[in-house]
Amino acid sequence: MTTLPGLPPAALPSPLQEIHDDRFARRGVRLLLKRDDLLHPDLPGNKWRKLTPNLRAATEGGHRTLLTFGGAWSNHLRATAAAGRLTGLATIGVVRGDELAGRPLNESLARCAADGMRLHFVSRAAYRRRTEPGFLAGLRDRFGDFFAVPEGGSNTAAVRGCAALGRELLDAPHPPDVTAVACGTGGTLAGLAAGLGPRHRALGVPVLRGGFLGRSVLELQTAAFGGRRGDWSLAEGHHHGGFARVPAPLEAFAEDFAARHGLPAPDRVYVAKLLFALTALAQQGAFTEGTVLAAVITG
Ligand SMILES: *Cc1c(COP(=O)(O)O)cnc(C)c1O
Repeated sequence: MTTLPGLPPAALPSPLQEIHDDRFARRGVRLLLKRDDLLHPDLPGNKWRKLTPNLRAATEGGHRTLLTFGGAWSNHLRATAAAGRLTGLATIGVVRGDELAGRPLNESLARCAADGMRLHFVSRAAYRRRTEPGFLAGLRDRFGDFFAVPEGGSNTAAVRGCAALGRELLDAPHPPDVTAVACGTGGTLAGLAAGLGPRHRALGVPVLRGGFLGRSVLELQTAAFGGRRGDWSLAEGHHHGGFARVPAPLEAFAEDFAARHGLPAPDRVYVAKLLFALTALAQQGAFTEGTVLAAVITG
């Protein structure tokens, strides 16, 4: 992979670190952390894996501006803004919810703005039309030429970028039997499973309510690779009430996990829900004795 001008290189492959946790050990499960949070100082985790192929495509296509979509707390918008600052591409963030337009920016959007992202607030109804050609044409009339990246950054280039995560795990001295990842759009899982291939399981933990994710992952794999790839499944029912909801038991779990293992506080929206789900599944005996289980720390 060629580097991008302005973007510091990523530390590849990210470390695969074994930790000792009684709740897994008691069930004969070895727990490894795939530390993608250490990949890159500005674009951590799966955002680096997903964005860099898009930055390259935009630059090679002669575009000077990247336009993308997200909610008010979107990690993807933040990463895109940071990438724009570093590479010199202009960035536009189309933000869900026009009620936010007149208000002070939250911390996440303030960081986007500080990195030079132009924020464009649209109503929830308009946001639902974000993939329609007419809607994009309207944005082109307004902003001129841009390279569009979908919500969450999940497109074909991103999914192919995430396949490298699976291949890195296969190259480990002891590739994990099961690799689990938290899912928003499912793009990371789609690539991970393809990279792992059919003999190593990938397990996705959706952090949104819905039940639509399986279809999205299949669609993303079909667009990127021509059909279903790898051995993947979803563990539903671990969303704790929905996207970005952090009830007290989840908060307590996240703080305890970090303290127990001397790790940075896990991202609450995704990573804490993944680790909570895996702990519950292990205690329920969902993994056979002897399983080597990897959790991807996506950010
Ligand atoms: C964006 C994000 C995800 C979700 O990735 P998808 O490819 O949309 O499923 C997971 N973890 C973290 C930390 C993220 O920022």
